[in-house]
Amino acid sequence: MFPRMHFLTRANLALFGVGRRCIALTCTNGARTLSRGFSDSGAAKHGDESNKKENELYDIIISGGGMVGTAMACSLGMDPNLEGKKILLLEAGNKKTMDKVPEAYGIRVSSINPGSATLLSGIGAWDHIVNMRCKPYQRMQVWDACSDALITFDKENLEDEMAYIVENDVIVAALTKQLESLTDHVEVKYRTKVVKYTWPKSYQVADSIPWVQVKLADGQTLQTRLLIGADGPNSMVRQEAGIPTVKWNYDQSAVVAVLHLSEPTENNVAWQRFLPTGPIAMLPLSDTASSLVWSTSHQHAEELLQLDEESFVDAINSAFWSSDNHSELIETAGSLFRTALSFLMPSGTSTRQLPPSVAGIGPKSRVMFPLGMGHASEYIRHRVALIGDAAHRVHPLAGQGANLGFGDVACLTQVLSQAAFNGQDLGAMQHLLEYETQRQRHNLPMMAAIDLMKRLYSTNAVPVVLLRTLGLQATNAVPPVKEQIMAFASK
Ligand SMILES: Cc1cc2nc3c(=O)[nH]c(=O)nc-3n(C[C@H](O)[C@H](O)[C@H](O)COP(=O)(O)OP(=O)(O)OC[C@H]3O[C@@H](n4cnc5c(N)ncnc54)[C@H](O)[C@@H]3O)c2cc1C
Repeated sequence: MFPRMHFLTRANLALFGVGRRCIALTCTNGARTLSRGFSDSGAAKHGDESNKKENELYDIIISGGGMVGTAMACSLGMDPNLEGKKILLLEAGNKKTMDKVPEAYGIRVSSINPGSATLLSGIGAWDHIVNMRCKPYQRMQVWDACSDALITFDKENLEDEMAYIVENDVIVAALTKQLESLTDHVEVKYRTKVVKYTWPKSYQVADSIPWVQVKLADGQTLQTRLLIGADGPNSMVRQEAGIPTVKWNYDQSAVVAVLHLSEPTENNVAWQRFLPTGPIAMLPLSDTASSLVWSTSHQHAEELLQLDEESFVDAINSAFWSSDNHSELIETAGSLFRTALSFLMPSGTSTRQLPPSVAGIGPKSRVMFPLGMGHASEYIRHRVALIGDAAHRVHPLAGQGANLGFGDVACLTQVLSQAAFNGQDLGAMQHLLEYETQRQRHNLPMMAAIDLMKRLYSTNAVPVVLLRTLGLQATNAVPPVKEQIMAFASK
């Protein structure tokens, strides 16, 4: 597998310090790989009543019921090959249902790509989402505040949806509703916090417990053949398993808010402008509302939260419209390059559309989140797999965090389904390695690209601005390159 790996992927592996496991794998023969796990046979016995409370054995325990963990539970619960397996989802928070969609939009939203929509549809949650609330958009326009350079992403058929903006609460509520129809397959415990994990040895030792032990806050201990860590960026599963993680905090926080537009529009474009202090994005929610994600310095974010509503709205409009960061040199160079491109590729230039202007914000709708990046150099250990933010955390500028997590769900389900079909031990390294390899190949180039974008746009130094201005315009002029970018970001 790895000899055919793209050079960029190899570079990324090195960049994120994950080379050790993956690159070592290139030289690891199949027999050695198999020997890293040890197998047992048979599913956990259902309803071993004598031992019901203490030390109950599950085939799979998922720790963490956010968007990704709940999707994992649904996905496993619906897989025919996993029928009869004992699956448990543990979530520290309350059950999140939505009998009636609230009038006010939720403050946390996600841009859901077509790959994630396909997964959510396959596990029966997408119809619930569409019935609740979800806004498709057909185009994305990204531009630089230091020049006129812009890039437009859309589908060949302009009617086709590029992605969807969905409130995080709607996604979780839809998945929760779907889980309610899977009670024969998946058990769920809300308000249940895990306080400790005890790991089995990867080799057989007389009298030792061969399963992962999961200790709950109420003192109860459960056991599982496979633990899936879906417990978010500060994952306790990852930390207690001692999995090395490359991580850093960005010098930015994201301010999020619900925006009211000054007039109704079709509102089918996602807008993002790169300011020297960080990107500001306006994502469509309805004809009259959008969602703001404004990444900026921590201090500026604090200041934005303190502003009165009118000044906050002015600051947003000015961030989208002002030309304060333009310089004559860059503008001249950019415009010459654009003219040359329009001769070479007459169909390759985009006209700038204008973002809607903002008139107000939703009630109590301004919150900030510190931003960071993190990557677990191993997604698996003996009887353990990490998914979602527990494995990787990215800057929101590309709207990819949850999408990467849903990709993990699709991949891990497929690998476990195949293992169950073949009668193999679900917690064995043999197939978990397949999951890790597939996902790191996808996630690492994406993470590297997001981190590079963040760095490239965090400066107004003239040579860098010039380089990115020309680069953005050239990319915009070559549709096959844009299609490749969109295809990659859609998976
Ligand atoms: C401002 C912002 C904008 C974003 N926009 C987008 C976007 O447009 N598109 C996109 O794809 N992504 C986006 N993301 C990223 C996305 O929000 C995350 O990737 C996603 O929420 C991760 O989900 P998760 O389920 O892996 O983790 P989490 O949401 O962190 O869920 C973890 C769950 O585990 C539970 N838990 C933790 N510890 C325990 C324990 N010990 N016992 C039991 N339960 C436990 C928690 O209660 C929680 O429910 C954005 C992020 C930010 C900050």
